Amino acid sequence: MKTRYIFVTGGVLSSLGKGLAASSLGALLKARGLSVTIQKLDPYINVDPGTMNPLEHGEVFVTDDGAETDLDLGHYERYLGVPMSRKNNATAGAIYYEVIRKERCGDYRGGTVQVIPHITDEIKRRVLSLAEEAEPPDAAIIEIGGTVGDIESLPFLEAIRQLRSDIGRNACLNIHLTLVPYLRVSGELKTKPTQHSVKELLSIGIQPDIILCRCEQQIPQDLKRKIALFCNVDRDAVFSAVDVDNIYEVPLSFYDEGFDQKVAILLRLPARNAQLEPWRELVHAREHPESRVTIAVVGKYVELKEAYKSLHEALVHGGTGNRAAVDLHYVNSEDITADTAADMLRDVDGILVPGGFGYRGVEGKIQAIRYARENKVPFFGICLGMQCAVIEFARNVAGLPQANSAEFDGAAEDKVIYLMTEWFDVRAQALRRHDAASDKGGAMRLGAYPCAIQAGSTAYRAYGCAEVLERHRHRYEFNNDYLALFREKGMAFSGLSPDGSLVEIVELPDHPWFLGCQFHPEFKSNPMRPHPLFRAFIGAAKEKKESAS
Ligand code: GLN
Repeated sequence: MKTRYIFVTGGVLSSLGKGLAASSLGALLKARGLSVTIQKLDPYINVDPGTMNPLEHGEVFVTDDGAETDLDLGHYERYLGVPMSRKNNATAGAIYYEVIRKERCGDYRGGTVQVIPHITDEIKRRVLSLAEEAEPPDAAIIEIGGTVGDIESLPFLEAIRQLRSDIGRNACLNIHLTLVPYLRVSGELKTKPTQHSVKELLSIGIQPDIILCRCEQQIPQDLKRKIALFCNVDRDAVFSAVDVDNIYEVPLSFYDEGFDQKVAILLRLPARNAQLEPWRELVHAREHPESRVTIAVVGKYVELKEAYKSLHEALVHGGTGNRAAVDLHYVNSEDITADTAADMLRDVDGILVPGGFGYRGVEGKIQAIRYARENKVPFFGICLGMQCAVIEFARNVAGLPQANSAEFDGAAEDKVIYLMTEWFDVRAQALRRHDAASDKGGAMRLGAYPCAIQAGSTAYRAYGCAEVLERHRHRYEFNNDYLALFREKGMAFSGLSPDGSLVEIVELPDHPWFLGCQFHPEFKSNPMRPHPLFRAFIGAAKEKKESAS
């Protein structure tokens, strides 16, 4: 069967949840026995979000093949349960970069290079590449970032307009997500913004087949009919996307509306009945926790939750795996000092220090880690969080008061975290492969690397196996010159690269649960399969809470 393409555009305003809508539709089609992939096309000029401030753009999601991508790819993986790759995300910047590269190489043989056809052709090439697999997916969902009407979106919309005749009308579907606001004063749901947005799409030559309306409450039948009439869609092709408390309810609420069924009918997809039991169980488990734990997330991007999207989800998954609700308490690390740490962290059951870049807030993270270590509070350090745990241990246990990371103090006496130049020489080639389009990120260790887990360790108890594959995104590493000293002082190195050259996991065996990892396990956590480390961390937090009461 030929791959069917489903294009999802957004109208009226941004942040309507296009990513979740696309993911939820994908989950439903998968539950109907179809194979599905999703791609995000981002209209901004950055080549990838790798260089963007998390406070501006949210988290940078990393794939196995080392692509730094939009956080929506995290939703795609969590809802579909299949890994994404660099193919699943493209920005306008990456597309222009490729066209300009070809132009410099003379590939256009002296022709004038233009938005149409050259940019649009490159967009189409990337969309069509999703079907170029040994087993092409039954459905490819393409989410177009931004809002219809933006200047930046135009080449993308033009490309999907053209694709409809390239691929064939019956193999494509356009879904438009809009907002139907509720006016409290008059108690009315308003459809005019939707009508205007569809008009805007029509002026570009795209007629939506389905209108998905984000709204505070279900849209009554007569209003759906009105929208259908004014927007030229089938009467049964207007759906409500109602606000929900728990994002994993979205597939179930779409299913109840008949959204995926309409998609399958319009595309003539051979869909079986949806198997939604796992989703129902998940929502049930989330709604009926047996206990609660409070976790402090000590970081510097706490003003924007999106900056820790996967982390947030992974902690919640870890909770579900323990039938516990997780209350997340985001703490700005700049507010933590030796004097305030105890007051700020006394009431939490676990402390997590996530990844990050730059020195700001690091001393506060180190204080939080000291508090966790000395007071036997379960601690989980991720990437920079692990590096801070190493610095804390060096300074306060191993007798190296001047210890630091080379990232924060290049002149520090004891650079316990450092840039491994020899490592870069050996692997520079492999790294460059990951960073073909990025000069800034050239020295980052990106993507999935194997890690050997030592039997009998906290990590082994969590994973239950001797080798795992986890995703990285960092420049600095543990400095092996300190291995022997730290071992002697009580730190265990329970995860190493299989050749033994890189420290991937550190832990403190004389602490109930104290673990730092150089990789980002949050990227691989799934609501149906909570990540083993998150499950174990929340389990330890639960135990601490129960033993205290
Ligand atoms: N800044 C640190 C490094 O580059 C940690 C990065 C991270 O936490 N992702 O190694």
